[in-house]
Amino acid sequence: MTTRAALPEGIEAAYQQVQARNPGEEEFHQAVKEVLESLGPVLVKYPEFAHQKIIQRVCEPERQVIFRVPWQDDRCEIQINRGFRVQFNSVLGPYKGGLRFHPSVSLGIIKFLGFEQIFKNALTGMPIGGAKGGSDFDPKGKSEHEIMRFCQSFMTELYRHLGEYTDVPAGDIGVGGREIGYLFGQYKRLTSRYESGVLTGKGIGWGGALVRKEATGYGAVYFVREMLKVRGDSLAGKTCLVSGSGNVAIYTIEKLAELGAKVIACSDSNGFIIDEKGIDLDLVKQLKEVERRRIADYAGYRKHARYIAGGNIWDTPCQVAMPSATQNEINGHDAATLVRNGCIAVGEGANMPTTPEGVRVFLDAGIAYGPGKAANAGGVATSALEMQQNASRDAWSFEFTERKLDEIMTGIHTTTYETAEEFGARGNYVVGANIAGFIKVAKAMLALGLI
Ligand code: GLU
Repeated sequence: MTTRAALPEGIEAAYQQVQARNPGEEEFHQAVKEVLESLGPVLVKYPEFAHQKIIQRVCEPERQVIFRVPWQDDRCEIQINRGFRVQFNSVLGPYKGGLRFHPSVSLGIIKFLGFEQIFKNALTGMPIGGAKGGSDFDPKGKSEHEIMRFCQSFMTELYRHLGEYTDVPAGDIGVGGREIGYLFGQYKRLTSRYESGVLTGKGIGWGGALVRKEATGYGAVYFVREMLKVRGDSLAGKTCLVSGSGNVAIYTIEKLAELGAKVIACSDSNGFIIDEKGIDLDLVKQLKEVERRRIADYAGYRKHARYIAGGNIWDTPCQVAMPSATQNEINGHDAATLVRNGCIAVGEGANMPTTPEGVRVFLDAGIAYGPGKAANAGGVATSALEMQQNASRDAWSFEFTERKLDEIMTGIHTTTYETAEEFGARGNYVVGANIAGFIKVAKAMLALGLI
């Protein structure tokens, strides 16, 4: 539920319009409100944004596509899912953002993700607009063939809306390298073009870029490293929790360990594991990336580790928390528990994993809190690097690409930190990210006339 707090004058009406126009889309309302809450001082500095109704325009997607995805399961039973692509804003570049396959996907979820993507993408400094898509298809328990047939049917409709200069999807929850492969294969058949730049997150060897797989997790850790640096601290020796055990979580754990931190817990939607000796990442990779099993199985291989079915990972004491599973996974109570237990930094690898109440707790406690649209921008930034390589038919080394990712994340940290300071909210990365992202988009929208 979105809570009702007073919005700056003039912005409240815009928010009410969003609510009235998009009934029942609670996550979308939540994402919009969180941005609008930061914008009061921006309209004072740039009154032209208000005169030109930039906020109202930014909250309305440029285009929304909803389509039927019919496919046949292994029993030859006909299945019907719903596909979405919300092309939110293309003022900075072609639409860019992932595809999510999960039973919880609805128009409101895709709109919240697409809205956040606009500002996240702007913060990367790369020429990419904001979009998101996906389906309420549940990949869990589906066979390899079912996944392929679904992806082919999904692309059979979506392809007409895509293109390297139009809209460039990538992965998100439920969509990884395997799915991107099937989607790319179908796009190639339908268009008869080897258009590498139409999708990112491709496999190495057929247009993919090194570091893309690792980028969201690595980038989120770099962001936390920078937040701690400002406070004269570092990740070395810190005890960490990482929720999730998918792509973002795995590479968050990897980079945390590389920088000397100790990750003692990770999770999936059924429960979490605690391994006080430090998570054995090779085992997690084998279970999740290769065998596609549940995290509960971890405890079967590491006898000292504990699996807590249905438990709450945030009850475990830690110094650094990196939510890397899904939206609204940390509520006000969880945030209070984390702070009470000594948590000093939170870096969001997932999109909007903390509820507004939770965010308030972190900000009031004055801990280093890196919101997703800044902290997890490394994924999409590296997608933009993949697009660069595709456009120039080039392939960069791991070291070179990782250095670029580090520079981009360090740059996003500097921009968000300095913007917060400029607008009187020192250390508040929520304000810094919202304002810096919004100003970039708003200025470009003004320059391009009434669009
Ligand atoms: N789904 C990722 C995100 O939330 C990546 C999007 C992309 O690479 O286009 O930013």
